[in-house]
Amino acid sequence: MEIIKGIAELRSRIQQAKEDGKDIGLVPTMGYLHEGHLSLVRAAVRDNDIVVVSIFVNPTQFGPNEDYDSYPRDLEHDAAKLRELGVDYVFAPGVQEMYPEGYNSFVEVRDLTDKLCGKSRPGHFRGVTTVVTKLLNIVQPHRAYFGQKDFQQLVVIRRMVTDLNIPVEIKGLPIVREEDGLAMSSRNKYLNSKERKAATVLFKALEKGKEMILEGERDADKVREEMAGLINQEPLARIDYVAVVDPEGLQDLKKIGDRVLLALAVFIGNTRLIDNCFIEV
Ligand code: AMP
Repeated sequence: MEIIKGIAELRSRIQQAKEDGKDIGLVPTMGYLHEGHLSLVRAAVRDNDIVVVSIFVNPTQFGPNEDYDSYPRDLEHDAAKLRELGVDYVFAPGVQEMYPEGYNSFVEVRDLTDKLCGKSRPGHFRGVTTVVTKLLNIVQPHRAYFGQKDFQQLVVIRRMVTDLNIPVEIKGLPIVREEDGLAMSSRNKYLNSKERKAATVLFKALEKGKEMILEGERDADKVREEMAGLINQEPLARIDYVAVVDPEGLQDLKKIGDRVLLALAVFIGNTRLIDNCFIEV
């Protein structure tokens, strides 16, 4: 496995692999890897001849008062995990490599990005779609892997790839959770032990909503209220949003049909956590 910081160097390796007829898989990450990331990497190793994992804490997807500076980073540890899984290249560019002096281009997906996390994090998805486009252009993979943990991100990226005719297959993989249900996230590191316990309220609320729907509840407001009520019982939790939406357009539902997404963003102390549950009835 090689750790590569330069775009030109990575491209020449990929070009050679493509000339040799190899299939390329890309797993974009911000590093500080956990089992959620590694599940994507394992899938990529299974499906492709050559796997590139990018590790880049992308400044353009963080708001001015967000955690760009404090976001956890540990390239050495990440590289050791990726080496064990059989990854070929870790692409770990610096900010100057990705956004050199004079950089001035952005990719924007409209509409889908105004909702849910887009409402509370203006500009976030513009940063995501821009960096993912750059990574897809740099690597030109056959397949790229994303987690359903960031369900809205996956929907936005699928839209972008379709709209812009980017020749790549997007794979969306299930959420990996801790034993008590908390969705794995690099940001879980910010939680102290009390907050860590309180954080299970996200999963509990999703489970409650799911149970109501599977038992026949079709009134989306009732499901929303029940989930919000449960979260509000936790003193360390503050709701950013609790949503019951259609999983394609991400619009709020009134009446629940056969496919529904329950999606949450909740502050536990100062840490904003997201989680979701896709239900097909
Ligand atoms: P990040 O490093 O947070 O940008 O995440 C990189 C990729 O890993 C994204 O596609 C995420 O959706 C995915 N991911 C993060 N956490 C999880 C998880 N708990 N389960 C599955 N995928 C995840």
